[in-house]
Amino acid sequence: MTNWQKILNASITSPRQLAKHFDLDPTGLAQVTDRYPMRINPYYLNLLNKVGDPLWLQAVPDQRELADQTCLDDPLNEENLSPVANLVHKYPDRALFLVSSQCAMYCRFCTRKRKVGTHRMTVSDATIEAGLDYLRKTPTIHDVLVSGGDPLLLSDERLEWILASLRAIPSLEIIRIGTRVPCTLPMRVTVKLASMLKKFHPLYINTHFNHPAEITPAATIAATRLANVGIPLGCQTVLLRGVNDNPATMRELMQKLLQIRIKPYYIFQADMSRGTDHLRTPVATGIEIMKALIGHTSGMATPTLAVDLPGGGGKIPLSPEYVKTMTGNRIDVINYQGLPCSYLDAG
Ligand SMILES: *Cc1c(COP(=O)(O)O)cnc(C)c1O
Ligand code: SF4
Repeated sequence: MTNWQKILNASITSPRQLAKHFDLDPTGLAQVTDRYPMRINPYYLNLLNKVGDPLWLQAVPDQRELADQTCLDDPLNEENLSPVANLVHKYPDRALFLVSSQCAMYCRFCTRKRKVGTHRMTVSDATIEAGLDYLRKTPTIHDVLVSGGDPLLLSDERLEWILASLRAIPSLEIIRIGTRVPCTLPMRVTVKLASMLKKFHPLYINTHFNHPAEITPAATIAATRLANVGIPLGCQTVLLRGVNDNPATMRELMQKLLQIRIKPYYIFQADMSRGTDHLRTPVATGIEIMKALIGHTSGMATPTLAVDLPGGGGKIPLSPEYVKTMTGNRIDVINYQGLPCSYLDAG
């Protein structure tokens, strides 16, 4: 067994085990983990400082998960948009390919909470072959997002088989991997993994950090290993109540990501995923955060705020309003400082 697999095997999976480390009452939480699994590996556990802190909220089950009457089991309508199991084809030129049902931690806010880490999600050689077949016979797809679960929880050999099979499909131009492992289990990103991945360029990795305290020395090593083999790194952050729903935390996170060579790609308004309603924030909060980023810090540290629409409508950008009026060829705007400015449009 490799080192990262040993760490993963030592994960805490029950509230009773967690109560040995923290002052919490595990009664009642077992009902939550019966429905939505818990996995906190020793690396991430070590980053939790106290009950209710921003990392705790992402990792530790909460009774409110079972009380959610507002959100939806399948908020993005993925099951209906899957021509074969575990492959979501929503946009004309790209597809989401789920190749693993496991993660290094089960995030309480997961958009696929209905199935990730449970028997409701099965990935097998057969589902992967069926997904590959669909991609082979659908040449309009140029960009495949390999996700899950977390693809980096697969062995190097299995992941290499999948990537090599994808690379053999001529119509696929871009391969992207979506993984939270650089944040939740950075020791998984070994030198061996990086040198395997670099055979499959153009390969992009989008990772997922939600708080500056997740940018540790170990995460820095993981990001550096991936960047050094030429993999452009992006980050898809999710806005979460009590975790990162204020401008100062989000600005620090975006700047720290850039320092470890990860380019912020999206900040997502939380999906309406059942069991996560207590973690959602108002859309206005996200807009205020964008106002505090745009112009005030590096454009490189300024991602797109987006909401992935319930029902499968796709991702749409949400932006502060800068254009005030357009009269004739005159466009009146306010700038990032709130000062009025104007521009004369081309004829
Ligand atoms: C998010 C997503 C994509 C990729 O969207 P981009 O905006 O290109 O990053 C593709 N397919 C599905 C089903 C998605 O949910
Ligand atoms: S790593 Fe991603 S897929 Fe896995 S539980 Fe967290 S949010 Fe869900």
